[in-house]
Parts: sequence; structure tokens; C-alpha cells
Amino acid sequence: MSSFTVSTLARRYAKSAVIAQPADVRGWGLFAEAAFAAGEPLFWVDIHNRAHSHVLHQHEAFGECDPRSVTLLPQVAFCFTAEQPLYYVNHACDANSGFINWGSLEDGKLCFAAFRDIARGEQITADYSALTPKGDGSPHGDAWQMSCLCGQAVCRHLIEGFDRLAIGDQKRFALTESPPYGRVIAHILAESPRAVEDLCLAAPHHFRHYQAALAEQQALAAYFKARLG
Ligand SMILES: [Zn+2]
Repeated sequence: MSSFTVSTLARRYAKSAVIAQPADVRGWGLFAEAAFAAGEPLFWVDIHNRAHSHVLHQHEAFGECDPRSVTLLPQVAFCFTAEQPLYYVNHACDANSGFINWGSLEDGKLCFAAFRDIARGEQITADYSALTPKGDGSPHGDAWQMSCLCGQAVCRHLIEGFDRLAIGDQKRFALTESPPYGRVIAHILAESPRAVEDLCLAAPHHFRHYQAALAEQQALAAYFKARLG
């Protein structure tokens, strides 16, 4: 029997077996309502769904938006609402989930998947470093930083953007030995040339997928920027 209990204060999602509810010192969190196998999608992020996010230039996604925005495209931030499960995903230094396939789109959606097997009731976590490009700390382009409360043995304590990770940590996302692959958004990896070079040399097949995802993200960013003016 699972000891997983659902709080009376909870938010369910029609299309995903995940639930948001009060977690711990970090406030609310997102939890698995079923077991998931490594690589299995937990939920999808539809970049065109205006009920789930509104789109801003990266340098405008501060203030109220700051804690719930992710720069999914180059210089283009998505400020999520509670309608989108990603809104509730807390950071962990040994995260069990995240975006896969370099953040490439399937039918306009990014897949947020389990990195390893997840038990029913387990909190779903992502490594915020894999979601954070350079200059995401202020409207002026300062580096982003956050103190970590994950309590894991591998905790880095001070969490920073992907470009500031040690190369060994960058390779955990870019050069994983087993699926799912592409655990960092392509345009964020692109800011770390050494990790890109290592990917190109060690895994040419995955490197080509990364390049295709990057081109897609650059084209989409141009589309959104033109609409934002
Ligand atoms: Zn930590």
C-alpha cells in the first residue's frame, strides 16, 4: 500500500496523472498520482495555450512573473499560470524529471518527462539550472542565483544558470548515457560551447537532434518577438 495521501487542498489536471498540493518548506509542489517509467511524459507544455502562459521578452519577465517564468525560447519567456502543472514544479539538485529532446516541439508542445522511474506519491522535481539561460537574473542581464533547500546529498546550495554549472554537471544533462536524451533546452546548452563540443564529438547523432531543436527555437523566438514588438 502506498502511504501517499492527497491533501484536501489540491489541484488536479485532466490530462495528466499529476497533482499539485502543499509540499514542504518550498510551499506547494507537484506530485505523481501514478507510477511513471523513465522517459514517460508527465505532462506537456503547449507554447500557444494562452490560458497556460503569457509570453514576454526575457528582460520583461520579472516582478510578479519572476518566480513562474521560464525562458523556453531564446530571449522569450513564458510566464505560467496555475493551469499548467509546470507552475508547481520545485527545484531539486538530483531532479527526477525535466524537459527532454532538447526542448523540441511535438505538435507545438514540449514534453516534460520522468528522468528515472517515479513512484506514485513522489514529488516531481526539475533542476532549474537546466531551465535557466545566461542573464536571467534581472532585467539588466545579471546572472540568476537561488539558494537551494532540496536537502539532497548532491545539493549545490547555490543554484545558478546552466552556463555556470561545472562541465561534469552540464554533461549530466547533455550527454546522458541512457534515455531520455536531451535533458537541457537547446538554446540554453548553446551558451556552453565546451559542452556543445563534447556532445558533437561523443554523440554525433544526438548533436544533430540538438542542432535541429536549436534552429526550431531560434525560428519560434523570431516569430514571438515579431508579435511582441
Ligand atoms: Zn539542492
